[in-house]
Amino acid sequence: MTRVVAITLAALITAGSTSPMAYLKLGAMVNGSVVDATWHQRPIGYFISERSGSGLTANDLLGAVQRATATWSRVESADVRFAFQGMTAATPDAIDGRTTFGFVDRPDLDRVLGATSFLIDTRTGEIAEADIFFNSRFAFSVAAGGQPDRVDLESVVLHELGHLLGLGHSAIGETERTGSGGRRVIGSGAIMFPIALTAGAISERVLQADDIAGISDLYPNGTTVDTGGIVGRVTKNGQGVMGAHVVAFNPETGILVGNFTLTNAGEFVIAQLEPGPYILRVEPIDDAEPDSFFPGAIDTNFRVTYAPRMVVAPKGGSSPSIEIRVLPK
Ligand SMILES: [Zn+2]
Repeated sequence: MTRVVAITLAALITAGSTSPMAYLKLGAMVNGSVVDATWHQRPIGYFISERSGSGLTANDLLGAVQRATATWSRVESADVRFAFQGMTAATPDAIDGRTTFGFVDRPDLDRVLGATSFLIDTRTGEIAEADIFFNSRFAFSVAAGGQPDRVDLESVVLHELGHLLGLGHSAIGETERTGSGGRRVIGSGAIMFPIALTAGAISERVLQADDIAGISDLYPNGTTVDTGGIVGRVTKNGQGVMGAHVVAFNPETGILVGNFTLTNAGEFVIAQLEPGPYILRVEPIDDAEPDSFFPGAIDTNFRVTYAPRMVVAPKGGSSPSIEIRVLPK
């Protein structure tokens, strides 16, 4: 492993503005182009740091990790497997070749519940190591039914494991400003939505369609030939729109899956959809600051727009490209 790069993703935060993505994959630059950052070996081995934190023991953390890894592993259309390799005296911030999860007291990060850092082989995009810390300045709970005023640790682990597997943030969710200048979650349709639900809630232990599409895209296991994709362009005055959030909604199943236009031509791809007709909605990313995820300028000056017709994601293929024209605000 000669050329590696360490990346830290500030992760699940309590309340406040942040940078949302639709299911988005972490990228690594390989020979001048971006490739998905993924694990090449399975199972993904991990260690648990022996340190206690937030009144919880390393064994409490191990239990939450085992439940959350099982949740990701249960996705039928993805090949995701983990293996617990033991307790360690190491902390989850050392670049030591070991993927380590543990509690760390970070009072300086007063809104960050946890975060994932990576070591990525820039020749191949392979994730060589990823560490996750959980900020022990917060009160976490491992109670089966949750506890009032405590954040459910399993839910935070599930979100951070999504990062560890190579997923960025999803924008399938809505927030509103609060009087104190932060943001409050109105609704979330993805575990990878970057803002945590309220303390006491345990609803975030379950993966949603957007998460499942993302992980199946990264780790296909050959059973996904039955899914379909939708491709198209978002344009304004004939020009491509960069960084538009495109959400596909299946009115039969209620499923929402999103992605972004990621080229100057305004092109987008929404993959791993259950075949069928979808309503497409295009919206600017104005919930938060997208700057830290999108290098360069993105266009947020347009109105929420629906595609002029429903688009069918065909089984085993992609839709003909659809153009969605948006108007300036
Ligand atoms: Zn996150």
